[in-house]
Amino acid sequence: MEALIWTAVTAAALFAAWRLPAWRLGKVLRQPLPQAHCDILQANIPVYRHMAPELKQQLHRLVQQFLYQKKFVGCAGQEIDDEVRLTIAGQACMLLLNRHSRVYPGLETVLVYPSAFMVPRKQVDEAGVVTEARQDLLGESWGDGRVVLSWDHVLHGARHWNEGQNVVLHEFAHQLDSESGSNNGAPWLGDRARYRRWSEVLSRDFANLRVDALYRQQSVLDHYGASSPAEFFAVATEAFFAKPWDMAERHPQLFEEFHGYYRVDPREWQAPPEREPAHYHGDVHGGQGYGQWQ
Ligand SMILES: [Zn+2]
Repeated sequence: MEALIWTAVTAAALFAAWRLPAWRLGKVLRQPLPQAHCDILQANIPVYRHMAPELKQQLHRLVQQFLYQKKFVGCAGQEIDDEVRLTIAGQACMLLLNRHSRVYPGLETVLVYPSAFMVPRKQVDEAGVVTEARQDLLGESWGDGRVVLSWDHVLHGARHWNEGQNVVLHEFAHQLDSESGSNNGAPWLGDRARYRRWSEVLSRDFANLRVDALYRQQSVLDHYGASSPAEFFAVATEAFFAKPWDMAERHPQLFEEFHGYYRVDPREWQAPPEREPAHYHGDVHGGQGYGQWQ
């Protein structure tokens, strides 16, 4: 009898331990996003102001879950306050709207530096000579549960959305890419037909971007995307959200693939651009492994 009681008590304790995190999260999500947090999204992320109320509600819940589950760490004296947390979470969670996906399940920690940060880089050439160098980075995405960001560039990308340089969208696109098992420019898409179409469209536009980059031709897509399929996916994600009108006009099939994947149309949040020569420049940040689309 005693053994039975202990078994029942142990089972109840295990069940409570299993259910507790979900119960706590549910409790958080039942509360509305505080007005002060909405005000930060409103002030720092211009496109948020133009999103439909239903999408804003979705974004609020995603942001609440992100803030509840992810740890923020300030580096090199960077203070972590609500403005930092909301500005990062608000942009990162835009990639999850309408997709019924989990909130970056592999991500545990967001490290934030005040500005571009230096990291050592080791390169080995064909002769086996090892060169140690230090490189300025704006952001990095790691497969071990970390994203590293420069706060200066996070804020600039959010407030100057239309410039199309957005380190948060870029690094969190790498996180989505890695959820499929490897960083190769193909996130989890589901069925084979979608992978086939994705591969055809992205391979062609990737090849075109490599030519543009080689001859320094202006492009909607940052030339940094020509460095690998993984970087192409991240750069095209930035363009899809920040320059959707240009991307839909100049890369219609690519736009449709991204529309099908991200399940939002960012053209609804921003007016068509006035026609003037666009200025594109390369960003420098942490790279991902090279690969091929599957
Ligand atoms: Zn990248």
